[in-house]
Amino acid sequence: MKEYNEIYDYTSKVLELISKSEITKEESQWVTSETVNGFRDYVNSGFLEYRKSVTKGGQFAAVEWKDSGANCFMDVNGKEYIDCLGGFGIYNVGHRHPKVVKAVKDQLDRQALHSQDLLDPLRAILAKTLAALTPGDLKYSFFGNSGTESIEAAIKLAKIYHNNRDKRNTFIATTRAFHGKSLGSLSGTAKGVFRKPFLPLVHGFRHVAFGDIDMMHKTMHACQMVGEDVAAVIIEPIQGEGGVIIPPDDYLPKLRQLCDDYGALLIFDEVQTGMGRTGTMFCAEQYDVVPDIMCLAKAFGGGVMPASATIATEEVFSNWFDNPFLHTTTFGGNPLACAAALASINVLIEEKLPERAAVMGEYLIAGLREAAKGHEDKVVEIRGRGLLIGIEFVNDEIGYEVSKGLFDNGVLVAGTLINAKTIRVEPPLTIEKHQCDRVCEMLAKVLNEVSREVLV
Ligand SMILES: *Cc1c(COP(=O)(O)O)cnc(C)c1O
Repeated sequence: MKEYNEIYDYTSKVLELISKSEITKEESQWVTSETVNGFRDYVNSGFLEYRKSVTKGGQFAAVEWKDSGANCFMDVNGKEYIDCLGGFGIYNVGHRHPKVVKAVKDQLDRQALHSQDLLDPLRAILAKTLAALTPGDLKYSFFGNSGTESIEAAIKLAKIYHNNRDKRNTFIATTRAFHGKSLGSLSGTAKGVFRKPFLPLVHGFRHVAFGDIDMMHKTMHACQMVGEDVAAVIIEPIQGEGGVIIPPDDYLPKLRQLCDDYGALLIFDEVQTGMGRTGTMFCAEQYDVVPDIMCLAKAFGGGVMPASATIATEEVFSNWFDNPFLHTTTFGGNPLACAAALASINVLIEEKLPERAAVMGEYLIAGLREAAKGHEDKVVEIRGRGLLIGIEFVNDEIGYEVSKGLFDNGVLVAGTLINAKTIRVEPPLTIEKHQCDRVCEMLAKVLNEVSREVLV
């Protein structure tokens, strides 16, 4: 028999710690060493090497502990960071928005998870809300817990739709796409580093250059000629992970037309661009394009709960009507997640956050461009839509040094050693002007330092 006393004491200690609003210096040191050692011995030591590599001298063990207001994080030592990473687009309504937290707590006090058998009300109410919120005739929703699950559902929907018709199973995704890392979604993801160790993936996926409508047309045509007609095209309206890549203005409308001409479904992955991030509730609206299937996650749970949705037209979704158990997941659409999503939608509307993203995005992009003036030898371009912003550098090394420098100066951005050529700036849509100013000020400071450190 295993002796449980130690495990009991250890977990009790932690439960007591997380119940505290403030922890002592000693406790914070204990948390730091448990975290670092735990990552090394039980999570994956690779993360430590990564953190070491992106942090300057000695403080690699930055361990997070709590939020600091709507737009900042605080580490276990009390250092504050303006969150310009936004959890890669989770925190659209800010960190722990009171309305979202209240909705989740209210639900939690009544019922945590659903029975799995009775009809759960918030699922129906959220689905109805989404039908009203999303463009065009998108109507039925399947709920999951992550972006990758929302993509899996979309791929399976496209498959069943065509299997009930003309048995197509060719999918077209785009170069530099990111759709997740489960086997199905990874098939659509474009990055070789992530795919190669797991090949072969789902049969039938091809990738064509993002933004190139002629290439898309030629590929669809070729697929048709060889009898492998395209079932669906899956695409991010603006590529996030790929480096904030905005397609030509007419690309998405033309893609919609192509899909219609060839009988292919159009899947929009709005996991990162959705929920107000790019200046409208959904990026699709800016191009006046309605996809057949739309995927949402990341900010969908209001930065409080993991939640995702796959929304489709009745024509597509109805293939699941005969047997609703064909695609399910136990926690998908649970009442806590639905409460968070409903509250988040309510907040996005109440605080006009999509509009705010458009305005603050312009302000921040202008400020960042100003900060990068005179550094044309380092910064190639600053681009973005709403508060999905990318700073492209001449090479990975400089991008890497800049994100490291920003981190040191209390600004968290998304940049890693393997992909730092473009660093992403995606703060909460609630970010304040003075925080934008500070970010720009720090960028200017760091760019000056980098010129000395790297280029010399
Ligand atoms: C993050 C992301 C995903 C994957 O979401 P996970 O929740 O990490 O599985 C899919 N598509 C896009 C566009 C994303 O940004």
